[in-house]
Amino acid sequence: MISSEAAPFAKTGGLADVVGALPAALQALGEEVAVVIPRYGSIDLKNARRVWENLAIHLGPASFPITIYQAPAEFPVYLVDCPPLFDRKGFYGDSAMDFPDNHLRFAVFARAALAVARLLFRTEIFHCHDWQSGLVPAYLRTTFASDPTYLGCRTLFTIHNLGYQGLFPKAALEEIALPPEAVYRPEIMEFFGRISYIKAGIALADALNTVSPTYAREIQTPEYGFGLDGALRARAKDLTGILNGVDYLEWNPEIDPLIPARYSAENLEPKEICKRRLLEEFGLPPEAAERPLLGIVSRFTRQKGTDILAEAIADIIAEDCYLVALGTGDAEYEEFFRRMQRDFPGRVAVRIGFDNALAHRIEAGADIFLMPSHYEPCGLNQIYSLKYGTVPVVRATGGLDDTIEEGTGFKFADYSGRALFEAVRTAINAFADRDGWRQMMRRGMRKDFSWKTSASAYSELYRRLLGR
Ligand code: ADP
Repeated sequence: MISSEAAPFAKTGGLADVVGALPAALQALGEEVAVVIPRYGSIDLKNARRVWENLAIHLGPASFPITIYQAPAEFPVYLVDCPPLFDRKGFYGDSAMDFPDNHLRFAVFARAALAVARLLFRTEIFHCHDWQSGLVPAYLRTTFASDPTYLGCRTLFTIHNLGYQGLFPKAALEEIALPPEAVYRPEIMEFFGRISYIKAGIALADALNTVSPTYAREIQTPEYGFGLDGALRARAKDLTGILNGVDYLEWNPEIDPLIPARYSAENLEPKEICKRRLLEEFGLPPEAAERPLLGIVSRFTRQKGTDILAEAIADIIAEDCYLVALGTGDAEYEEFFRRMQRDFPGRVAVRIGFDNALAHRIEAGADIFLMPSHYEPCGLNQIYSLKYGTVPVVRATGGLDDTIEEGTGFKFADYSGRALFEAVRTAINAFADRDGWRQMMRRGMRKDFSWKTSASAYSELYRRLLGR
């Protein structure tokens, strides 16, 4: 697997959770899996083993010296170390902007991953994730097309989020040493006068998938296709949707060491303790314990429905409820959350930051989890919420639509503040019926979205690709 993130080494979102957990689930099915990620500045090499030194990646006239480390994990995790490119604060940029050499960083990364396959881990399937590994199929189809090392290898490209595309000026082609006559074509990686790394993956991988069946359909429409719906429709017969699993060793209120009290479907009482502590931690008044507490853990971006939340928040709070939110993201949306806290003091409390333990405490302490996403390829937090008995209110899109059903949560279709508010009000009314609510919590808690099912689907897809 070639990815820009893998938990616990490097994580900004769901991609890292998937690449951190799916390999172990595949191993349990008898597959041999290794993962390649960049070695960012934040990854400590103290416990890593140096497994290859002085590897030179040549891109045209330029040469990049690489060291490959192997990190301690259940499966081989290879870290591509190239300090001038990756030893920085941030994976893709700082809060102000993307790094200006991302085209080069993820070209060198793709080539280094191919070198790992040549030197360290005999590979049959290159499973690539998102735009950062989109050049892997491109180099295999061009630079290495007749290289015996990769003969018979197949590629799978998984789309975790179509909204991030890796768009660069055409001139970058020279720096990344891809032949323009082969790739600068509208059916390959040309995208309105620029080059698109995600389009390279879409056009050139042997098979494609995305992380839920509904999102696989949605991205073939103009509304959700980000200009790539045509490219995706052209590959419709090679495109499937496989729902992500979740790691119940990490996200399970029965054993979670990060929450103040452990509870289960059979013993819900201790969840009250989690709620009270959460209210204290966020400085909300004790009387809030009697009222519904809404929770949000999210990247603060437009994708996550921030604008309809802005429309609905006053009406929501008027229902006599409370909201806690944790997230980081775009400056304007971070500011929106701060403003909400100022506008509704004692009702809305916000933490800006990335804090895994706090994410767990919110899952455990809230009554209702909000995900009003504009689009959501799979979404993990709503699945965690089911497990924590924190009833999700979600927009019926992508993986949210595939994982939440009547009886375990509340869905709304229209992307509007009105529709969001109506769904929240329905949930708040349901909350008043304590017995009914507990039944709903229990139904969600008993749902099983563990990796086993997804891993089997991937394993089957690999086998089909290899013609077995
Ligand atoms: P996305 O990948 O679009 O960000 P997902 O719901 O698929 O959304 O995955 C988000 C993951 O990142 C979850 O594991 C969630 O708990 C975590 N996460 C997101 N924001 C934060 C944050 N500010 N602090 C801690 N964890 C976060």
